[in-house]
Amino acid sequence: MVDPDGRIVVLVVEDEASYVDALSIGLSADGFIVEAASTLAEARKLFVTRKPDVVLLDLMLPDGNGTEFCREIVATSSIPVMMVTARSEEVDVVLGLELGAADYITKPYDVEDIRLIVERTLERSAMR
Ligand code: CA
Repeated sequence: MVDPDGRIVVLVVEDEASYVDALSIGLSADGFIVEAASTLAEARKLFVTRKPDVVLLDLMLPDGNGTEFCREIVATSSIPVMMVTARSEEVDVVLGLELGAADYITKPYDVEDIRLIVERTLERSAMR
């Protein structure tokens, strides 16, 4: 849901503080509203209460793996999910796309890249 000011809400599910900080600062500067969750439990709560327009989902989280949450989002909404994982984790890109992720990003990434990917993803999902 676009917030009352018309800004895009991005749910960032990420347990590494450095990424959360960089995304919060970078995306907020671009006019996005960033809601950050460091666990899947928190992410599920924020997903319901904040109704994000797009979800940036790190897969390796303290309370589990994000793939199931990705499945839930895709099954119950049209909100695009961008999967994030560390290169070393070698999660198969094909798996991510099979789960219905709109895009797939490997760490380390630049916040600027994320902004472009978020915008591209939102444009694409608006055209569906
Ligand atoms: Ca992680």
